[in-house]
Amino acid sequence: MLIDFHLHVSRSEHERPWVLEFMESQYDGDLVELIDRVLTPTAIRPFLQENGIDWAVALAEDCPVTTGVTPHDFVADLCARANALPDPPRGPRGRLIPFAAINPFIVNDLGVEPERLVKEFGFRGFKVYPVYQHHYVNDIRMYPLYAKAQEPGVPMLVHTGSSVFKGARIKYGDPLHLDDVAIDFPRLNILMAHSGRPFWYQQAFWMARRHENVYTDHP
Ligand SMILES: [Zn+2]
Repeated sequence: MLIDFHLHVSRSEHERPWVLEFMESQYDGDLVELIDRVLTPTAIRPFLQENGIDWAVALAEDCPVTTGVTPHDFVADLCARANALPDPPRGPRGRLIPFAAINPFIVNDLGVEPERLVKEFGFRGFKVYPVYQHHYVNDIRMYPLYAKAQEPGVPMLVHTGSSVFKGARIKYGDPLHLDDVAIDFPRLNILMAHSGRPFWYQQAFWMARRHENVYTDHP
């Protein structure tokens, strides 16, 4: 079974212009056309199935000063409508798993919002964007969120390492800041996106060896 654990389902209107420009420079073709064609409830699953994906973690984003905002209601609706379609008779199913994104500078009550997003919108995990939201992952401000996520066993994906996008602050991407979080929330499953690329691979590797609840992905 193949799971894509990091699928940004942002439409072009969700992204800041410089993000789109960079993505376009990396893609050989019309990126906006691809996004418009594929990021719909009826088209996303056939696209994932063609690419051999059984499950994909679909990410919301709340980083207005750096990369953009992909709203919770958009992601929840896309996932719910796509998943309501019948599975193919054989082969990869291409189902979506919605992950929320909570920005501590925008959401006031971090101890309430995760529950609301899980219960009302059906989110199954959340992503934290320290480099794009300008806070350390072990900032005490984030602790109510981790406590709330740990209870029902909701996992966390966290951006670690560098970014090419304008406004990103790389110092927040050091995986070692997760040491506190892993110890203080032993039942919170933490996946380090990008494994601290490129200069913190060693730290990310060490963290995953040190803590049973910390995992690396392929950079
Ligand atoms: Zn990401």
